[in-house]
Amino acid sequence: VAKNAGEPEFHQAVKEVAESLAEYIVMNPVLSKMKVLERIAEPERVIIFRVPWLNDKGEIEINRGYRVQMNSAIGPYKGGIRFHPSVNLSILKFLAFEQTFKNSLTTLPMGGGKGGSDFNPKGKSDNEVMRFCQSFVTELARHIGQDTDVPAGDIGVGGREIGFMFGQYKRLRDEFTGTFTGKGIGWGGSAMRPEATGYGTCYFAQEMLATRGLSFEGKTVCISGSGNVAQYAAQKATQLGAKVVTLSDSSGYVYDPTGITPEKQEYVMELKNVFRGRIKEYADRYPEATYYAGQRPWGVKCDIAMPCATQNELNGDEAAALVKNGCICVAEGANMPSTPEAIKVFQEHKLLYAPGKAANAGGVATSGLEMSQNSMRLHWSPEEVDAKLRAIMQNIHEVCVKYGTEPDGYVNYVKGANIGGFMKVANAMLAQGCC
Ligand code: NDP
Repeated sequence: VAKNAGEPEFHQAVKEVAESLAEYIVMNPVLSKMKVLERIAEPERVIIFRVPWLNDKGEIEINRGYRVQMNSAIGPYKGGIRFHPSVNLSILKFLAFEQTFKNSLTTLPMGGGKGGSDFNPKGKSDNEVMRFCQSFVTELARHIGQDTDVPAGDIGVGGREIGFMFGQYKRLRDEFTGTFTGKGIGWGGSAMRPEATGYGTCYFAQEMLATRGLSFEGKTVCISGSGNVAQYAAQKATQLGAKVVTLSDSSGYVYDPTGITPEKQEYVMELKNVFRGRIKEYADRYPEATYYAGQRPWGVKCDIAMPCATQNELNGDEAAALVKNGCICVAEGANMPSTPEAIKVFQEHKLLYAPGKAANAGGVATSGLEMSQNSMRLHWSPEEVDAKLRAIMQNIHEVCVKYGTEPDGYVNYVKGANIGGFMKVANAMLAQGCC
């Protein structure tokens, strides 16, 4: 703790994993002898750098860039880049730590990493975003590569930013390789990558619901966020027969009791991805909806909750409100959106609750599939990628059930995901010696 002082999110993520693994490590003494968990909790490398860039007024602005290369035991570092003013070392270390387990769960050969900057893309022109991305990659380029470290998108980093970063990387290296994932479909991107995290979270929830003979059909779903993950979670939940009634952003949420239909979802995609507007505008456009400024959607009655915005966006009181309102299933599209207190409430009430490292692994899994297609110089059809994504999510669910089923039959998906994700990385680290 002292070594990582001032890193509360990182402590939170490590504590959860350590608690899940305690029994498993006692049963396998070689793990403590070889200090495997202690090594996993120490990044292999952290790179911090200056990112100077020129704004549209010709003034110099300075941000801080990071890449946390957490673990390369089972493959090159792999994980997203986040651009958000809240970005700091604690947040990126927690994300990189979680990513190591998540990537292992996908069964694909990917290590764990995460990076980003405290740069805020909101309110910036396309040219400003481009100049920032070019400066960011000018330094990052020397630390990444298709066999070393493969970044992707995350909060504040979508197709536009990946395009600018990939373009600069290509200029610097003079090579067209799969060093970034989330690329456009005409220039190395995989079909289904934009959809993958949201769709995968729904596929995982489908598997959880099936264990109790349930499905999305006829269910009411609350989703937070309105970015990449939230948009496609809403689309897939609707395709599976559910009614999605909320979306949010950092300013508030909208509640549409008539359901956010495919036509309305298209409007949200245009609003957020093209015009970079606020979710409040949804209620201006659709008067049947109400906008709640400064609030989160967890007080709304629903059967299924899907937090898809950011870390610690659902606390213990909000979890209690969801339970009281009859919620049966919580599938995390975001990383660590539920606080430890919220997780306790879900598990005490025996909800179907899946942590992000299992439920949202579809995004990085499809990034892994993008890497494979890039290496083979091939392009798979959307149907092919979707089938692989589905199979990967089903397999992660099976692993969670295998390692997380309690004596009373309740599936503790946190424990299942942590043990399942840990084993492969731990075995690789044992085989590779003290490194
Ligand atoms: P986007 O930037 O596309 O969307 C983020 C959404 O969350 C926006 O609606 C944003 O609102 C909201 N949000 C961000 N920060 C906050 C905050 N502090 N409080 C409330 N709302 C906030 O990001 P993604 O959809 O890609 O990512 C969402 C989550 O999913 C993150 O936790 C990410 O790590 C996780 N994830 C993403 C994957 C991917 O493939 N993209 C893969 C796996 C996990 P606003 O516009 O107001 O900022």
